[in-house]
Amino acid sequence: MTGTRVHTAPWVLTGTRAIRHGAVAVTGSRIAEVGSVDELRSAGEVVEWSGTLIPGLVNAYTHLQYTHMAALGQSSYDSFEAWSTAFEAEYSRRGDWRASAELGLEAAIRSGTTAIGDVVTHAEALNVLSAGRMHGIAYWEVMAWHDTDWSERGRQETLAVLAQATGPVGLSPHAPYSLDTGVLDDLGRLARELGLRSHVHVAESSAEHDYIADGAGPLAEQWRAWGHGEFALLRGGGAAVRPVIYADTLGVLGAHTHIAHGIYVDADDRARLRDTGTVVALCPRSNEVLGLDAAPVADYLREGNPIAVGTDSLSSSPSVDVLADVAALHRIARDQGYTAPDLHARLFTAATAGGAAAMGLGDEFGTLTAGKLADITVLGIEESTAADTLAAIVEAGEGSAVATIIDGETRFVRTAVSAQR
Ligand SMILES: [Zn+2]
Repeated sequence: MTGTRVHTAPWVLTGTRAIRHGAVAVTGSRIAEVGSVDELRSAGEVVEWSGTLIPGLVNAYTHLQYTHMAALGQSSYDSFEAWSTAFEAEYSRRGDWRASAELGLEAAIRSGTTAIGDVVTHAEALNVLSAGRMHGIAYWEVMAWHDTDWSERGRQETLAVLAQATGPVGLSPHAPYSLDTGVLDDLGRLARELGLRSHVHVAESSAEHDYIADGAGPLAEQWRAWGHGEFALLRGGGAAVRPVIYADTLGVLGAHTHIAHGIYVDADDRARLRDTGTVVALCPRSNEVLGLDAAPVADYLREGNPIAVGTDSLSSSPSVDVLADVAALHRIARDQGYTAPDLHARLFTAATAGGAAAMGLGDEFGTLTAGKLADITVLGIEESTAADTLAAIVEAGEGSAVATIIDGETRFVRTAVSAQR
């Protein structure tokens, strides 16, 4: 076979099985075959890696364009509202969002990421994923619109930005509290009409509940102070329901949507997320930086909610290394009493196939399977058994990426020099 490369390593974890001395044959941008080195060595030019080959890591939720705001994510906060005040001040001082996003993209590739759910707030950063030949979706974020402004010009302006996309694009109503009720309703309809994937921040702050249910509390006061007192919920004393239910009532949730955070959710909320097929991207390190509680990771796992992993942006997290958040989720699940033996496998899946499913791209990537895109991450981790190798990846995989292959093309290889950085 001509033009085929056979990537081999002491371990290959495909996402469904572990292969000792495994191999992934790649032809063009696709995986041709997966098997043992013995089976595949004659299929093409052999590339020998040490460590473990895994499906490319999927960062289901970040904002690459906030990479220049990394100083914020290196700090810590008492509350979501304290962080968002600091964020707004820093955001208004910043510019050159494209360069900032490009820097974030490079960091993501260096940490083994091959697909990203990137939430974008400036049109100049919209096409950074596609220009950088990164898989995933650029979600155009819509925020702080009142019903009347939205129907007069917001909808039109949003459609104009979406039309500029050179790659896969989605629609992100920012959050249940940051848009007027009619706008949320219209965005849910618009995503379905245009056949776009959606992303929304839900249940991130404990005060979000008081805002949505009663139009009261610190988050409601912050949005009133920012001049949004005309929002229907702030005028009318809330919707008398929890944020997840409110978002679902307006058509924002569904199998085309994934949410970020999902911290302050009860059993009914989690059931609603499952029933609607909404994936939850968990972002534990960002939550910790903001002084928030941990998401109910153990409950999500026990109850069978579809989950993915997001790093969030550097404005609220120390890095875009997905495996650092996987390790945090492992600690949290154990602390919350999750003792089932499938924990490592579940979290590994969340960071790969789970992220692909969150963006509706599970047929394209997320496992090492013949026919899927050749998105492969090489980790410098090798233990004597498959179980120990998987455990080391999940519990201590941060910083272990030694190579990143996207579409069959090796985009990053750690050298002795880059390892010292
Ligand atoms: Zn966000």
